[in-house]
Amino acid sequence: MARPCLVWLRRDLRLADNPALHAAASRGPVIPVYLHAPTEQDDWPEGGASRWWLHHSLERLGASLVQRQSQLIIRRCGDSLEALRELARETGAGTVYWNRLYEPAAIARDRRIKTALREDGLEAASFNARLLREPWEVRKQEGGSYRAFTPFWRNLRKLGPDSAPLDVPRLPTHDHWPTGEAIADLDLLPAIPWYRGFEPCWTPGEDGAQQRLDAFLRERLSGYGGQRDLPACDSTSGLSPHLHFGEIGPRQVWASVQASRLAGSGDAEKFLAEVGWREFAHHLLYHNPGMPTQPLDRRFEDFPWARDADDALEAWQHGRTGIPIVDAGMRQLWETGWMHNRVRMIVGSLLTKNLRIPWQRGEAWFWDTLVDADLANNSMGWQWIQGCGADAAPYFRIFNPVRQGERFDPDGDYVRRWVPELGKLPAEHIHQPWKAPGSALEQAGLRLGSDYPPPIVDLKESRQQALDAYQQIKNG
Ligand SMILES: Cc1cc2nc3c(=O)[nH]c(=O)nc-3n(C[C@H](O)[C@H](O)[C@H](O)COP(=O)(O)OP(=O)(O)OC[C@H]3O[C@@H](n4cnc5c(N)ncnc54)[C@H](O)[C@@H]3O)c2cc1C
Repeated sequence: MARPCLVWLRRDLRLADNPALHAAASRGPVIPVYLHAPTEQDDWPEGGASRWWLHHSLERLGASLVQRQSQLIIRRCGDSLEALRELARETGAGTVYWNRLYEPAAIARDRRIKTALREDGLEAASFNARLLREPWEVRKQEGGSYRAFTPFWRNLRKLGPDSAPLDVPRLPTHDHWPTGEAIADLDLLPAIPWYRGFEPCWTPGEDGAQQRLDAFLRERLSGYGGQRDLPACDSTSGLSPHLHFGEIGPRQVWASVQASRLAGSGDAEKFLAEVGWREFAHHLLYHNPGMPTQPLDRRFEDFPWARDADDALEAWQHGRTGIPIVDAGMRQLWETGWMHNRVRMIVGSLLTKNLRIPWQRGEAWFWDTLVDADLANNSMGWQWIQGCGADAAPYFRIFNPVRQGERFDPDGDYVRRWVPELGKLPAEHIHQPWKAPGSALEQAGLRLGSDYPPPIVDLKESRQQALDAYQQIKNG
């Protein structure tokens, strides 16, 4: 009888296109394991919204495994190496397989674990389930990693995924299961149920991911290129949390797009390029492990941030800045755990440029409140919007949130959905209610100052101050 193989699942919470699971299943009995070790994630253990997602994702994965006469063994631990050693001793496993992660703390831990398990005489191997291509596989012709998206994507687009997606393997049966803990014992769900609004929006788990992809390809891929920037239209895929938790992998997304009737169209290529941004973020993080905290453009370490900005930060977090499109985005985030990409850029620009609050504080808030919070994508996004990252928006391109609202939410539908107190304002005033004539406010039943705040910052003045601050570091 072959010795069992431990498959250490992390952010690859799926059965299809899971190379570690596939390789294990071809050898003999498989014991799928999830270890909850938040102290090993450096300063980035899952935030509140991600914990909600993880709880449900583990539930779904456990149920799928039970349907296949298998189980998900869950253990809490302070040290994953010790937990794996213990499991190997208890089960007689001779092999441990997992799929790779690319956060600096995970890389260091996994290297240490691989070496130690091999020294113990076990077979330890890791696989790629998370990316189309490993960060070290996409190289410049002259060698070295990329700092600009366009040449990176050109290269990756040509290379394509490293393989076709794998099917769900048949899991050989197994009788002697080690003990595990209940998902509820991980205490992932926040004590205060602020996540109630997430429930109607999301179906965590592999089936939910596949359904979302199928619906997107059927209903929204056509027109994606033109509509993806309009937050009132439900026009993007909503796959980001599923991709983050590995409930679906990019190879599967790629293969489904290429098999669809729109393969090769402008819309399909635009969508694949967005998936390419996710690859680029992982590439950047792998080659620049300081990215979550340090600006890639080091001049920004000396940026003169605003002092005493705590009240402004709080107003921003709670969607009470008095700038409608910003408040709509921040409330969408709080209610649903997600925010439209265009609006992420608008709220980020207001925070880091008009309010001159360090991008790391916005990054931390997103980390706690996004269901798709992802170290690579989040830190790249914040550095991009601040203007201090690789291939970032130039610092002097400061978004005007009123113009952005007028352009990308021309009828004000997005604002009306999330800021209902402005619901009766006509479109011409909805993005700057402070300029609406008294009669329009009266007709809309809106008292500025009591029903809805005036803007916490003068957009024109603060724009100039941001440009002045930039001048100070520009040549530094
Ligand atoms: C300040 C800021 C912070 C962000 N933080 C995160 C984060 O923590 N996690 C996260 O997944 N995305 C983040 N993004 C990127 C982007 O906003 C989301 O990936 C996107 O809104 C997810 O929605 P979707 O799945 O419908 O995207 P779609 O438009 O359907 O795109 C498909 C997939 O491509 C990837 N993708 C799309 N745009 C980007 C992008 N700009 N950067 C990286 N990947 C992208 C995502 O995996 C997404 O699911 C951030 C962007 C900004 C500006």
